[in-house]
Amino acid sequence: MTPHNFNAGPAVLPLPVLEQVRDEFLDFAGTGMSILEVSHRSREFEALVEQAERRLLGLLGASHMRALFLQGGASTQFAMVPLNFLPAGASADYVLTGLWSEKACEEAARLGTVRVAGSSRPQQYRHIPAVDALVRDPQAAYLHLTSNNTIYGTQWHQWPARAGVPIVADMSSDILARPLPIDQFDLIYAGAQKNLGPAGVTVVLLSEALLATAATTAPTMLRYATHATARSLYNTPPVFAIYVLDLVLRWIEAAGGLAALAERNQRKAAYVYAAIDQSDGFYRGHADPASRSWMNVTFRLADVPREPAFLAAAAAAGFVGLAGHRSVGGIRASLYNALPEASCVALAEFMTDFARRTG
Ligand SMILES: *Cc1c(COP(=O)(O)O)cnc(C)c1O
Repeated sequence: MTPHNFNAGPAVLPLPVLEQVRDEFLDFAGTGMSILEVSHRSREFEALVEQAERRLLGLLGASHMRALFLQGGASTQFAMVPLNFLPAGASADYVLTGLWSEKACEEAARLGTVRVAGSSRPQQYRHIPAVDALVRDPQAAYLHLTSNNTIYGTQWHQWPARAGVPIVADMSSDILARPLPIDQFDLIYAGAQKNLGPAGVTVVLLSEALLATAATTAPTMLRYATHATARSLYNTPPVFAIYVLDLVLRWIEAAGGLAALAERNQRKAAYVYAAIDQSDGFYRGHADPASRSWMNVTFRLADVPREPAFLAAAAAAGFVGLAGHRSVGGIRASLYNALPEASCVALAEFMTDFARRTG
């Protein structure tokens, strides 16, 4: 039985992509060599990187941006953003909505001055602060937010206006899950291993306007300009991960683009939230309904000691990866783009059945 893969990341990939990787594994682009064996300077691979950048910008309608394919994960971006865009004497605004935004903020604080423009930490990160409740510094070097909080299961559904301050977003767990008002963003970064592809490549989308203001003092590998100038080929990139990422982008195009994915993602999440809401309190969602994530559904059993039994029964029924993040416990179902709708229907049925059997 193929498991229903609810892993939080690395996570499920589209089956047609995996099949294509298998089918052409020994012969990349007619070279007679595996993708693992070709030079990153080969004509075939250079074309692939250019094509992946074009696809990514095209899907997002981001004509004002460049797309870079870097290494070091989203966690390296926590430092790279301030190294490039937080000059001495300036201050950056951070909105704290979970563990990842805390980490981003702490890393920036090691390198410069930061301010907290909003935080839902006192409410156990159950909601996203309202856009007009943010207390922003009009002079901030940038405003940083985490669009989807993978651990707590909350997601921004309205965006702050730029208001003269570049908006920087960590979109590791919901990039390409829905259309965005892309013109409002100057920098978006995402580790690929949740919604985009395999681990090992980190996508950065960066406006030409912001790029032009980057500091020139950072170490070479940590400067966006290095990678923008070299079209992500300054040094050896994660060739295989970029190759798979490009196939995932093609799969998204074939699926109808971001609007089509958003519709499906919203439907997928609705099945699982309905199972929570209609359980008579057997399941308790962590996120306030208005801030619920379409990507990571987090909940507890009202009877917390019964959670291990829930997880064991779920595993036996073929549901993988449902344990909550080690820092918060509970249950988390990650419903990334590649997770089939049928897996969400099956999980909702399992939850309802489990509650009925043991409730
Ligand atoms: C997973 C995750 C990260 C960390 O990503 P790495 O690529 O492992 O460094 C950062 N931010 C968010 C929102 C995440 O979900």
